[in-house]
Formats: sequence, C-alpha cells, structure tokens
Amino acid sequence: MKPLKDLFDLLFPHSCFLCGNTLNGTDQSICFLCNSQLPRTRFWSMEDNPLQKDLAAHTDVSHALAFLYFARKSKTRQILHEIKYKGNGALAEQMGAQFGRSLRRSGWAAGVFDALVPVTITRKKRLKRGYNQSHMIAQGMSEELKIPILNDILHRSHSGASQTSKGRTDRFESIRDSFRVNADQINDGDSLLLIDDVYTTGATSVRCLNLLKEGGTRKLGFASLAYRSGI
Ligand SMILES: [Zn+2]
Repeated sequence: MKPLKDLFDLLFPHSCFLCGNTLNGTDQSICFLCNSQLPRTRFWSMEDNPLQKDLAAHTDVSHALAFLYFARKSKTRQILHEIKYKGNGALAEQMGAQFGRSLRRSGWAAGVFDALVPVTITRKKRLKRGYNQSHMIAQGMSEELKIPILNDILHRSHSGASQTSKGRTDRFESIRDSFRVNADQINDGDSLLLIDDVYTTGATSVRCLNLLKEGGTRKLGFASLAYRSGI
C-alpha cells in the first residue's frame, strides 16, 4: 500500500493550507516552517499564566493552560477555521498531539489527571461537522499523554442564543442551561482535565468545570488548543 501512496503523493502533492507550499511525507496539514511559526503560549513552562488566573477567579481549577495564542490575523485563527468549518478533523487531532507532546516533555501536571473530558457540542453541530473538534484534540493529547478520554460525561442539549450578540454576563447566563453532567460516569475522587478548542470569555469552560465539580470530581484542570486574550 505504501508505494501506491507514495506514488499518489508524487502525482498529486498536498499543500500546506496556511502557505500553499508542498508538504513533504511527514507533514500532515501544515508545513514545517508554518508549524515552527505557530504562536505557542509556552504556558506549560510558567509558574502562573493569564488563562489560569482568569479561570481561577470564576471556578475551582488547579491547572489551566492553552497551546496557542489566538489573534485576528494569526495562523491559529486559520487553524481553528479549518478545524471547525472545513471538516479537517485530522488537523484537530494533529494539533492535540503537538499540544500533548509539549505537555509531556515539560512534565506539566504529570500524573495529576485520570482522564480527559472533551467539551461537548450539540448533536446538530456534531452531525453537520462530522465530529466534535474538542474530542479530536483530546484524541491527539490522549495518545501522547497516555491518559484515557471520558466521553459520556458532558451533554449539551441546545446552543442557546447566539453568543456574539451578547455581553459577557448574558453569555454566562445563556450557557447555563445548555450543559448537563452525567455524574454516574464520574468516580468519586477522579481528577479530570477538561479539553476545549478555544478559550474566549470562559463561559463554556466555567459552566463545564462547575458541573464536573458538582458531579464529584476531586481535582479539575483545563486545557484549550487556543487562547484568545483581551476580551
Ligand atoms: Zn506552510
């Protein structure tokens, strides 16, 4: 099979969706150069970080961080667009694996968490997209960190009103009713790491973390692929 694939790649080379350059055999969606230029937060090697401070002001969380900074014209924005609207679930998994590798190599929260819990999306969105992007990110992280994923804990019944038209307080309110927790799936004393695609207002993360806490989680952490500061 491999020679056939190599021939296919030779005849129809894939290109990096960020810069258009031809990808070599080991690159999956992004070329080496673009990858090296991604705006990594390096929160995993800091004592404290702004995301953790923001989240800790609203909920009980022992560890929190993100992989990439998100800015209006950044590569991170293009990556999230590709993941959410272009059906590139493999890219979400690839980015999750890179994130996981950075955490593993730095020793961040080593041995602290028993399982990863992806933030859920509504069934309607999942069917439209073909996957839950947070689950794909968690999948990549899980393989690197050797931590299993717990899928059946969080449920989201409806998306509520559009978040973009609301203020921060309203956004927290509109999120409130859309998530539910399946506490039966949480063992007393579990330490869980919530995984999301992007941290913006924190409304979704805070709601999910509080639900996991109410469901019996002993220790909670949060990790998102991207971090949008200054909102
Ligand atoms: Zn590139």
